[in-house]
Amino acid sequence: MTMISVAEAANLVLAQAVGFGIETIPFLSAAGRRLACDIVADRDLPPYDRVTMDGIAIRGAAFTAGKRSFVVRATIAAGDTPVQIDSDGDCIELMTGCALPAGTDTVVRYEDIEIDGGIATIVANTIKPGANVHRRGTDKHAGETVVPVNTLVDAAVISMAASVGQADLQVWKLPRVAIVSTGNELVDVQDTPGPYQIRRSNSYAIHTVLQQLSIAADMVHIPDEPSESTQRLGSLLSQYDAIILSGGVSMGRFDYVPQALTALGVQMLFHKVSQRPGKPFWFGVYPVGGKAVFAFPGNPVSAFLCLYRYFIPWLKAGTGHADTRIPVAVLAADYIFQPPLTYFLQVHLSVSEAGQLFATPVEGHGSGDFSNLVLANAFMELPAEITNFKKGDIYPVWPFKPVF
Ligand code: AMP
Ligand code: MG
Repeated sequence: MTMISVAEAANLVLAQAVGFGIETIPFLSAAGRRLACDIVADRDLPPYDRVTMDGIAIRGAAFTAGKRSFVVRATIAAGDTPVQIDSDGDCIELMTGCALPAGTDTVVRYEDIEIDGGIATIVANTIKPGANVHRRGTDKHAGETVVPVNTLVDAAVISMAASVGQADLQVWKLPRVAIVSTGNELVDVQDTPGPYQIRRSNSYAIHTVLQQLSIAADMVHIPDEPSESTQRLGSLLSQYDAIILSGGVSMGRFDYVPQALTALGVQMLFHKVSQRPGKPFWFGVYPVGGKAVFAFPGNPVSAFLCLYRYFIPWLKAGTGHADTRIPVAVLAADYIFQPPLTYFLQVHLSVSEAGQLFATPVEGHGSGDFSNLVLANAFMELPAEITNFKKGDIYPVWPFKPVF
């Protein structure tokens, strides 16, 4: 099979983003998820003419006609049933959050009045009729959408859900994901590696990224051994919506992953993408249940890049992220990359004083330098057909940390 381009690979992956259905969960557990339906106002917002200042309610026309002193007929607190007035000479003393009493239309702040012996006198020179009242239904009417489908549930959405009485929210379901590491040279984090062994890190990096996306993935290690690979992967395919592997997909004699997956009936959509890092990326679909299998190369930067460039867009497409635009940034220094491959340059993104996003290369020891990822915060996607990249050129970026 010939090597395909990054764009072709990304399209093939996105075409498999089928979604995982909908679930209803308590609203307070929904932060970080995407809404699967609109949140609708159960009544007008505000639900009554709401007073926005502590003070007195009067008829604005009485002030305009020259009246300055008003008899305080009642004092009400927020939540009380309002008392109405019947005369231009009356007022009601009330507090922020009260319903505006019938017969009044204007609230005058305590700062603009003096109250003595049951009489309130306005000391301000001007009063705006209708002031300090948030009229019923001016924000939303009952039945109107207050938060549209696919919105990320954040503090503002949680607040909206609470105010319209939505104790449960319908959200897009997230996939069940298994993270599989392969490689007989790998030992676990608490073990002391032999002289030619290393500790495995990919699964933990991937697990952490998924955790940030509200996915609690399971981790499995499979040795480089064909029949065990086939047996263990077969059992994972029956339990998970997606499998992310790292390692075992290159041309090495002990790279058993593609043959094990093929033997299990996983249909390969591509193997090898014209990119660096991550060229040996293998992607397939298990027809039973349409499960996606992302088999990334084991090099930690390759696996990390592939996760951001392919897995996360696939995840987003299936979980209610409507905005598929890829951000771009300005390259902050000349850069040369000769091979005819898309190059994912490690960069540090920063925002200039003029508000522009700049990408400064953090090259270190090249595309395989995992320690660099501590300093970098994004990959910049440099197209395969260009060799000399110029300072000031604009290219897509894949941030993997908050930029500001
Ligand atoms: P592979 O793709 O299996 O040929 O692995 C490529 C390189 O990545 C090798 O040097 C592996 O030791 C290394 N590698 C593979 N899996 C991991 C992992 N889970 N954590 C850290 N390094 C790994
Ligand atoms: Mg390996």
